[in-house]
Amino acid sequence: MDKVHNVNHKAGKVTVVGLGPGDVAYMTPVVKEAIEAADVVVGYKTYIDLIQPMLENKKVINNGMRREVERCQKAVEIAEEGHQVVLVSSGDPGIYGMAGILLEVKEEMGSNIDVDILPGITAVNAAASVLGAPLMHDFVVISLSDLLTDWEVIKRRIRCGGEGDFIVALYNPKSKGRTTQIEEAREILLQHRGEDTPVGIVRNAKRENQEMTITSLGNMLQHNIDMTTVVIIGNSNTYIKNGKMITPRGYKI
Ligand code: SAH
Repeated sequence: MDKVHNVNHKAGKVTVVGLGPGDVAYMTPVVKEAIEAADVVVGYKTYIDLIQPMLENKKVINNGMRREVERCQKAVEIAEEGHQVVLVSSGDPGIYGMAGILLEVKEEMGSNIDVDILPGITAVNAAASVLGAPLMHDFVVISLSDLLTDWEVIKRRIRCGGEGDFIVALYNPKSKGRTTQIEEAREILLQHRGEDTPVGIVRNAKRENQEMTITSLGNMLQHNIDMTTVVIIGNSNTYIKNGKMITPRGYKI
């Protein structure tokens, strides 16, 4: 990468921003302002592409920087040179995003730079709104990715979600190389709720090529599920009415 020259002697800062689900209309004005005010933007290429029109006259660091920890180290280093750095994350940066990694890396580096974290609409919010109102009662969010978490731990959490009658939302449900976890997750939940439990599957929520399906725990595997998908499994009271998935809060209507 080119050396970024220190153009002023202001204190640098890293602002970790959540871009929301993808469509810029769902990005908060505060995040837009932070991106506008930045002189350096760091992020994974897919997310940089989403905000390309906002990046004129900014130094952008993306290519060849796939590794999250390295990206955070770079963001801290550049901020220490006095730059206003924005580190982008999809959805909310504190939900399987960059915020935690940045804070950990900053501590590990012994850096004193300021860090601001700006929230975004996370995938489960976006997906729920597409399906109706499935999250009206207590819910859990579980990532099925076992790259950084033992599969045994993930299974225990799914079991607890099932036992507790929580609505269960699954992130990272299935990738090309990781196909059995969603099957096992469904088996575990079937031990606690019926085959006819409503399930919502949303791909590309609130961005181009959005698709949604409302199905059941019995039939969910017949539908296309991949890494751009969130799966929401209802609790024992969730029902489907006129194409909407609804979890009642308990009001007398
Ligand atoms: N920080 C992100 C989550 C990153 S984990 C957030 O808060 O949304 C990546 C997973 O998020 C994907 O595998 C998928 O399950 C989910 N995801 C992210 N954006 C999505 C979208 N627009 N529609 C559906 N799922 C999405």
